Amino acid sequence: MSCNISSNNGSKTVKDVINEAVAILESSNIEDAKHNANLLVARLLGVSYTRLPICWAERISEDFCQKLSLMLSRRCANEPLQYILGEWSFLDFDVNVAPGVLIPRPETEEVFLAAVDAIKAYKIPENFHFADIGTGTGILGIAMATYFPKADGCLVDISDNALAIAKSNLERYPEIISRTKLVKSDLLEAFSPDSLDIIISNPPYIDSDEVKTLMPEVVNHEPHLALDGGPGGLVLIDKLLKQAESVLKTNGLFIFEHGHGQRKEIEKLLTASWNIIKEGNDFAGNERYFVLELLKKN
Ligand code: GLN
Repeated sequence: MSCNISSNNGSKTVKDVINEAVAILESSNIEDAKHNANLLVARLLGVSYTRLPICWAERISEDFCQKLSLMLSRRCANEPLQYILGEWSFLDFDVNVAPGVLIPRPETEEVFLAAVDAIKAYKIPENFHFADIGTGTGILGIAMATYFPKADGCLVDISDNALAIAKSNLERYPEIISRTKLVKSDLLEAFSPDSLDIIISNPPYIDSDEVKTLMPEVVNHEPHLALDGGPGGLVLIDKLLKQAESVLKTNGLFIFEHGHGQRKEIEKLLTASWNIIKEGNDFAGNERYFVLELLKKN
């Protein structure tokens, strides 16, 4: 089936094109075709998804149809919906997303909320210094600076492309710009010993051999640099744990995401310097994150 939708000289309504778009997406076996079609049409109309029914009877132009057809052909080729929309939400805020950065996942929201609980429970000083390692879109760093208005921190990535997108997202939230910095670094290499109170990270943690088995949206479109955790998947987490032992202050916290089935292996990597505050599961019941405290240094 072709992805082209025509306006029939302006005779079609928003509701008509939504129905056509659903049929096109379904014929390409796109899951949640209706949800995808609604979000794409809402984006083109510049209205929120929930207000779409108010526009159902509006007539649409040929230009609108051409833009929608282009979006549909991208989606039918399994490009993630989020890249086509150019924007996605994390917690209660939106960020720009584009090829070159990982799309925000709901599991990562849970990791962040666990970090908030630990920061409050462990009485970290209000004006703490944090780093978000592998910031990608910038979501974790932006959330940290937003939820803790006296904290300052660094949004760190090795990829220039990711740093450019994170910069565009920081610019959307001017109230945190003076307390956040973009830093290009290979994990924590750029940081001095005893310089951070909090490290938060959603590092690449997928076993190199498993990356190619991920769904086409992920393997063909999301950056492998953000996903591939090397042979076994824990190469970067192991490196981060070693670096964090030096860079964190005594009683500092290190919160990081990982994959299901990795908990036991990560426990084996922990030296006696680490106190496990929490080993968290996500909403699906999968092993998902660690909250660690760095004990007194030798
Ligand atoms: N910090 C970003 C996120 O959590 C990117 C993570 C990454 O690139 N591995 O989505």
